[in-house]
Order: sequence, then C-alpha cells, then structure tokens
Amino acid sequence: MTSPIWHPFTQHGLGEPIPTVVRSEGAALFTRDGRRIVDAISSWWVTTHGHREPRIMAAIAAQAERLDQIIFAGWSHEPAEAVAAGLLRLMPPALTRVFFSDSGSTAVEVALKMALGYWLNRGEPRHRILVLEHGYHGDTIGTMSVGARGAFNRAYEPLLFDVATIPFPAAGAEQATLDALEAACRAAPAALIVEPLIVGAGGMLTYPSHVLAEMAAICARHAVLFIADEVMTGWGRTGTLLACEQAGVVPDILCLSKGLTGGAVPLAVTMAREPIYQAHYSDDRARMFFHSSSYTANPIACAAAAANIAIWEEEPVLAQVADLATRQAARLAALPGVRHPRALGTIAAVDLGRDGADYLSALGPKLLAFFRDRDLLLRPLGNTIYVMPPYCIDDAELDAIYAAIGEAAERFA
Ligand SMILES: *Cc1c(COP(=O)(O)O)cnc(C)c1O
Repeated sequence: MTSPIWHPFTQHGLGEPIPTVVRSEGAALFTRDGRRIVDAISSWWVTTHGHREPRIMAAIAAQAERLDQIIFAGWSHEPAEAVAAGLLRLMPPALTRVFFSDSGSTAVEVALKMALGYWLNRGEPRHRILVLEHGYHGDTIGTMSVGARGAFNRAYEPLLFDVATIPFPAAGAEQATLDALEAACRAAPAALIVEPLIVGAGGMLTYPSHVLAEMAAICARHAVLFIADEVMTGWGRTGTLLACEQAGVVPDILCLSKGLTGGAVPLAVTMAREPIYQAHYSDDRARMFFHSSSYTANPIACAAAAANIAIWEEEPVLAQVADLATRQAARLAALPGVRHPRALGTIAAVDLGRDGADYLSALGPKLLAFFRDRDLLLRPLGNTIYVMPPYCIDDAELDAIYAAIGEAAERFA
C-alpha cells in the first residue's frame, strides 16, 4: 500500500520517489536504503551548525527528564526565561520584549497582530501593510497575504487581504523602490514587512544594505512600524547574526524561527521594541495581546534554543560562517554556464536555462531528480538553484554539490 501521508509542496501524482531518512549527522542524511545524502539546503533552511549538534541534543535530552509541556498563559518556566534573557544579550538592545510561538509563519502573524494592536491601542487605528515585491513570509492566510501572489496561492487569493506592494530594489532600480515606499508611507500604513537583504522563496534575490537602511529610515520618518522577517536570514545565514546588522538597522519588530533552535525542533519568537509592548500594557484586559498557540514556548524546544544561544555566545560561529562563505564563493566563481551567480553569507544561488524565474518551470522536477540521483538534497526554486548548507559542511561535500550544479548547467543549459 502507498503511504497515507500527504506531503507538503509535493505533487503525489508525479509518482516521484519519497526517500525515508533514518539518521542525520553534520551535513549528511542517511536513508533507509543505505544512501548518504548531502543536505545542501539545511533541510529547508533550518539547520545552522549541523544535524544533531551535540550540545543541542544534550539539552533536549536533559530537559525531557524534567518538564515537557505546560500552558504559557499566566505560567512560565526556566528554559523560556533562559531563551528570553539570552536573546536580550544577543539581539539589539532596543528589542526588549520576547513573544514565543512555534513557526516562522506564526512569528509573522504575531508581528502583524502586534502592529495592528499597537495602532489601535494608541487610538489611531491603522491596518494597511506595506510589503516588498517577491516576498515570502509563510503559508497561512495572513502570511500569504503579505507575500507574493502566484502559483503558490492562486486558490486562496479571494481570502487574502489587500496590501500595498513596493517594487523589489533590483540593481539600478533602487530609487524607484525608495520613492514608492515614501509615497506609500504618506497614506499612514501600519507597518512595512521585509526580508532583509535577500528574498528567499521569491528566488534568492539580494539587494544592497544601503537600500535596507534607507527603507528603515523612511519608515521611521513616517512612524510606520518596520518589521524584519529574519526567519531565514537570522542566526548567521547572511554572514552576521542578523541581516539587519549589515545595514545598521534595528527593526521595530523582529521575527525569528528556523535557526533559533539550531534547526533541531520547532520554535519561534517575535521580538518587539518597548513602545509596542507598552501600547498593550494596561489594567484593561481588552488591551492585552490576543494571541497564543497550544505549544507556545514548549520547554523542550526552549532548552534547544537556550543551547543554541550558548553556542553563539561561546563558540566562533561567525568565523565558521565566514569560512563557509569563502569556500562557497570560490566554487561559485568557478561554475561554468550559469546565469546571475550571487551569494550572501552562506547562501549562494545561480539561474539555469533561458526562461525567467518561474516556480513551476518545467526544469524544476528534472533538476530535482538529477540531484536526487546524485545523493544531494537540493531543491531548486523553478530554475534557480541555491545552496544553503549547514555551517559544518566540509570541502568534499561542497565539491560534490558544485560538481553536480556544473553538470546540471551543462545538461540543462
Ligand atoms: C520559512 C520562512 C517563513 C515561514 O516559516 P515556517 O516555519 O515555515 O512557517 C517565514 N518567513 C521567511 C522569510 C521564511 O523563509
């Protein structure tokens, strides 16, 4: 019998094989049929240090001996306190409040709700959200609403709320982005949400830090809340702990998830500046922040995050990230026959073929099978191939990835 599992972003009708993974270590996945797969995309952008990082695994095991899950409304626990204290040490000092949830999408939903709550509680209701073209913020109705519209969400479009889209700051067109943002800010929107420096699911497109800095400055001038979705870019992905750092930007609201636990277990936080918290702080229960999910701040997930924070504080993670960036850049530069090679920190991407970026490009499934046959976990976005490996990946594993991309470029040119 075939499996009853309905997999995410999978067209089961194509009959593609779905390997069963039984073990992971470092940058490798081991399948039930005995293959060793190189995880070139960090298991969908979550694994930062490497699979089964020993300190994180030990923290999970130790926490499982003490406390599993408790309600977080009106109750607290030590692992959550440790994560919050650690985030206050690591993240920009202006971000004084930590709200827990359990996925990147939820972190973004929380950010949007915080922004609207802030404005309503100040007595000047605002609800319009500004978004950046090609953005991706998750797959729930709210996060799809603030993300790019396309094949991903055509069926749900009637339910998505209206937003104002600022054009992507493509090379040479940066001023148009800033002008559009300035104009949109005059209509007193609630917030702008962006993926800082690089849009991920939208095609791994980068833009310069000075544009990010100017976008934040325009928002500040118009008192529009600036929400940084660092779900993908956070925890060293772009070469710094946060991508915003490279622009000297401190957001009003910050969304973190994927690498928060090193990628071991699900957890998310939305951090906010003090005025956003204070707008909800009152003796009036009607002004509290109305959001929770059952597993908010799960203690075992928090223990993993606390261990990740300890790794960041005690080990040379940024040096490892810089080293990976250098090793990847050399291989990227040597790739023949690819279009638009680009890199930011530990992320590298190229385009293949002639057609523009199109998620449902005919090339996609062929590339997927091509890499699967070579024991590589790569998952192109249409005809964009990107590499986003765990920071511990070694030279031989990188060589295997880039040799296969070179071969693919030749075959599918
Ligand atoms: C992955 C991602 C999300 C959604 O996170 P989930 O944990 O998959 O819900 C949101 N924003 C960005 C930028 C992402 O890359």
